[in-house]
Amino acid sequence: MIKTLKVRLYPDENQRILLEKHFGSCRFVWNHFLEVRNKYYVGHKKDKKKGLTVFDTMKMLTTLKKEITWLNEINSQSLQHSLVELDKAFKSFFKHNTAYPAFKSKKDKQYFIIPSGFKVKGNRLIVPKFKEGIKYRDKSSIPENIKQIIITRDVDRYYASIQYETNEELVRGNAVAGIDMGVKYFLTTSDGIAIEPINTYRKYEKKLKKEQRRLSIKEKGSENRKKQIVKVKKLYQKIRDARTDFNHKISTAIAKHYGTVVVEDLNTQGMTQNHKLAKSISDQGWYQFRRMLEYKLQWRGGEMIEIGMFDPSSKMCSGCGNIKHDLKLSDRIYHCDVCGLTIDRDLNASINIRNMGLIKVGKGIPEFTPVEIPLAGYLNREGISYVSLNQEPQILEG
Ligand SMILES: [Zn+2]
Repeated sequence: MIKTLKVRLYPDENQRILLEKHFGSCRFVWNHFLEVRNKYYVGHKKDKKKGLTVFDTMKMLTTLKKEITWLNEINSQSLQHSLVELDKAFKSFFKHNTAYPAFKSKKDKQYFIIPSGFKVKGNRLIVPKFKEGIKYRDKSSIPENIKQIIITRDVDRYYASIQYETNEELVRGNAVAGIDMGVKYFLTTSDGIAIEPINTYRKYEKKLKKEQRRLSIKEKGSENRKKQIVKVKKLYQKIRDARTDFNHKISTAIAKHYGTVVVEDLNTQGMTQNHKLAKSISDQGWYQFRRMLEYKLQWRGGEMIEIGMFDPSSKMCSGCGNIKHDLKLSDRIYHCDVCGLTIDRDLNASINIRNMGLIKVGKGIPEFTPVEIPLAGYLNREGISYVSLNQEPQILEG
């Protein structure tokens, strides 16, 4: 199994300049050979050999490096990798009808790939052309079987995404849950744990508005405007980072505890009809969370079951199946007039989601299980706040 570990890099000034040269040169090689391949194709349409191969372009790159000497400052494997990627983009265009390879701009996401030659020494990552090694945040130790490293920049921060091979056995969780994604709580599980949202965006909203207003009055093209743009971008970065961290923690806890998780197929179009709700959705990065949960479950041999959005998960009574048509969005408590069940609205929905998912895959519905202590333990370890929605107060200990 290939896994990825992303670490923050702390290059010194010279290294930062060299990293920037790597971004620029890999982009230059891509753009240069995209044009070369385009021209060749136009000129040889009628010939037997219509297009250039990746090997043709690699040979041409060697010649080009004699003319454009600054390319020699750059790790040659990273430059060659740009040609491999360009070739892949062409193949994908011809075979799968994907978009025609496009020129890359400074405004695109900056990255380059290092396919081999890495070493770790202390808290430094040694890669070709960086003999002294670039400092990294050594929160987690860098694994041994590295396949490749992708270096990226986000505003003014540098990162290394380290892809490595691992044969660690991850244990599949054995519990089953339905999950209701919500606004009051980030999510509610069918065994009664409701996770509080972080709402990072709200916290930074005022600040963001202020800085954006400042930006709007800065003169176009001025140094001050450039500075202000960076300021705004950094605020967005803060929001993104906090959200990603939050989503990682929760998805890890859930994937450890549950082997089967049932979720609703998120249909944004239906959801965004309510503006307040839409804001919370993008705020909380549900899509990112779902993607993380899915691959983390897969790592452990667990499964995610999706059910349609139009199944009446909120309006149906999880006790007797009666449908309460007049349930309002503001009703926090679900009270069933038929069987008398009184239950938190999100808990009721998550139990329905679980049951619908299990029926969909032909499994039986389990007896009601009270709050699952182990999940609480995993959440405690990740520092996530939650409440128990079960009527009987439970003692939650890790
Ligand atoms: Zn009922």
